[in-house]
Amino acid sequence: MTLLVVGSVAFDSVQTPFGKKERVLGGSANFFSMSASLLTRVQLVGVIGEDFPEDHVGYLQQRGVDTAGLTRVPGRTFHWRGRYEYDLNEAHTLETQLNVFADFRPNLPEAFRRPDHLFLANIDPELQALVLEQVTRPKLVALDTMNYWISGKRQALLKVLRDVDVLFVNDAEARQLSGEHNVVKAGAAIRKMGPRTVIIKRGEYGALMLEHGTAFYVPAYPLEDVFDPTGAGDTFAGGVMGALDRWGGFNTQTARQAMVVGGVLASFVVEDFSFDRLRTTSLEDVQRRYADLRQFTDFKDLPTAD
Ligand code: AMP
Repeated sequence: MTLLVVGSVAFDSVQTPFGKKERVLGGSANFFSMSASLLTRVQLVGVIGEDFPEDHVGYLQQRGVDTAGLTRVPGRTFHWRGRYEYDLNEAHTLETQLNVFADFRPNLPEAFRRPDHLFLANIDPELQALVLEQVTRPKLVALDTMNYWISGKRQALLKVLRDVDVLFVNDAEARQLSGEHNVVKAGAAIRKMGPRTVIIKRGEYGALMLEHGTAFYVPAYPLEDVFDPTGAGDTFAGGVMGALDRWGGFNTQTARQAMVVGGVLASFVVEDFSFDRLRTTSLEDVQRRYADLRQFTDFKDLPTAD
């Protein structure tokens, strides 16, 4: 099957309580592709400036990512600057330089117009809509967004959400988008905006999938050292969508397995800056932590009352 992603390809400057890195590789579509390419072939749509290293484009290709939709244009690459306090669940944006993204209008190569699965990674919702318009309706359309767009481009976001099957957001974004404090109520309110499934990412507390009348919760893999949470959400989504694309599409069972794969991949990416840890993560590593998580969450029924 084929998995298409559109999103940011970026430089990130990140400060955490454990260190600081200037202009490391990042961006929502970049993290997503690094993660999903462990599981399936990914088609990537995005834009980079003259300053973006060709080596990394080559490296993505080696991982099986089709970069025919990654356009290089004059100017500087998108740059995000962020900071985390000891509560690593919350990113504080210090600066967003859209740069080449400000004038980008995606035009999909012919071979990218029939994906089975489409992931509209965090980026301007108008660009997400432009991509959606250019594809034959995929089996599944998923979307991620953030506070920057929820407040800055709310109407455009609400419009594209009508055609989305699965929304990925963190709890703060779910609250901001819905106006509901409780995440279960927030999920129900968001489902009325279009998506039939809402996946709420809760950082070190795992992720919650809400559908009509049912919920599924996957805890985060318990780690001793979390170094840099940047990209955890996109890596999680890459694992979920990659698993669905590899193992047969969305249904109640595969979606649950895919959530665990996503959580496991996110547990690797946070162990180092940028996606350095994903470079050395193998499918066997993922399978090992997947099996561990099953053990960590396995419990028997209570004895009957009598
Ligand atoms: P997350 O997975 O939520 O930690 O996403 C982190 C990535 O999102 C970083 O690599 C940033 O480059 C990227 N990012 C930050 N702000 C934006 C934005 N406004 N639009 C698109 N991508 C962004």
